[in-house]
Amino acid sequence: MADSPSKAACPCPHTRALRDVDSEIADLIAAEERYECDTIRLIPSENYVSMAVLAATGSIFANKYSEGYASKRYYEGQVYVDQVEKLAIARACALFGVEHANVQPYSGSPANMAACFAVLRPGDTVMGLGLPFGGHLTHGWNVNFSGMLYRAVQYELDPETHRIDLDRVRDAARRERPKAIFCGGTAYPRLWDFAAFRAIADEVGAVLIADIAHVAGLVAAGAHPSPVPHAQIVTTTTHKTLRGPRGAMILCGADLAKAVDRAVFPTLQGGPHNHTTAAIAVALKEAATPEFRAYGRQIVANAKALAAALAARGYRLVSGGTDNHLLLIDLSDRPYTGKDGAQALSRAGLIGNYNTVPFDKRKPFNPSGIRLGTPAVTSRGMQTEHMEQIAAWIDTVLANIEDAGRIAAVKEEVREFCGGFPTPGILIGNGRKPRS
Ligand SMILES: *Cc1c(COP(=O)(O)O)cnc(C)c1O
Repeated sequence: MADSPSKAACPCPHTRALRDVDSEIADLIAAEERYECDTIRLIPSENYVSMAVLAATGSIFANKYSEGYASKRYYEGQVYVDQVEKLAIARACALFGVEHANVQPYSGSPANMAACFAVLRPGDTVMGLGLPFGGHLTHGWNVNFSGMLYRAVQYELDPETHRIDLDRVRDAARRERPKAIFCGGTAYPRLWDFAAFRAIADEVGAVLIADIAHVAGLVAAGAHPSPVPHAQIVTTTTHKTLRGPRGAMILCGADLAKAVDRAVFPTLQGGPHNHTTAAIAVALKEAATPEFRAYGRQIVANAKALAAALAARGYRLVSGGTDNHLLLIDLSDRPYTGKDGAQALSRAGLIGNYNTVPFDKRKPFNPSGIRLGTPAVTSRGMQTEHMEQIAAWIDTVLANIEDAGRIAAVKEEVREFCGGFPTPGILIGNGRKPRS
């Protein structure tokens, strides 16, 4: 039977096989590929993985069960799986300069849960930056395991500067005597002073857990200070700035290796996702290159350029700007909310997300902020000069939030602009060759 035109357009055998079996899912993947090509993706936790990472993620290592750790498995047939996991671990240790890495956590949240299991008992006190201030759910928020199993204490940002106030953190730590302190967050546009956090943790006898899910790629690239050797435990996702598959890692010294490994398996998880482990290994190899160092620096340069271009157009930014890959537009003084703004931007193909701003007077499901980041656009090769154009579009949309015609016109301009920036891992790219 002759291939249909859509079949002929499919580049690889496994894509063709998918289309033969399930054209609905194949169509949805093709549509998502087109969408990821034709829009400007500004969600700071998202990225484009390389074709190499994608190939490992879609590999037959998905077939294997391998509960346990390399050379200590509960299943036979681990000749190659063990080598994959050892490679991933060795690369993680080399890249971040740690003695031990666990590459099995299914994602960032389970990694944080395992980190807590490694050093806390139920009822112990844990401290972290509050969710409305840019912390993560797993750092002690009340509806999360971390706020349910433990006595959680949340620190806030300085009400004037919207930055971490170390005096405030120290006072809270002295008063509450936490057993573990989280630093790191999801919506904090400034650098983390890991050494200062460690000094506070030491003073009260707490373990410092640095959650670098958002900035791991910047740390690997030398574009953000490293939490090593300050934090006793470092957790990270692998799919944000690190540009790997959806997964996570826990990094620590030899002293905590056993406790961390036991917390992941058997306490929290069963069999590791070996296809993900393989893809993590690939991503870590990519992250150790000079190209990735340049990439990390460009992410920050782009974020600073985007922040400056928005500020020049009169937008207030949380903390006044950014030192990393993300920024928060503060719309507290505008008649529309962050949700209104993010939804209007999305209609124009500018994809961000609504977010609380520090001390937000609006509700969390309709807050005052829009969170934007540059990891994905930088993966497409966009440079600082392109941030000016993106800021101009953002401004046009937000200034014409009810004007469907203006927004549709921006969407078309965005689509055309995107054609000049091929997407890693996606073969279409508006007819251009893939970047990698
Ligand atoms: C994204 C993120 C996580 C959670 O990762 P998931 O993979 O979504 O579970 C944890 N901590 C921080 C700081 C994050 O940004």
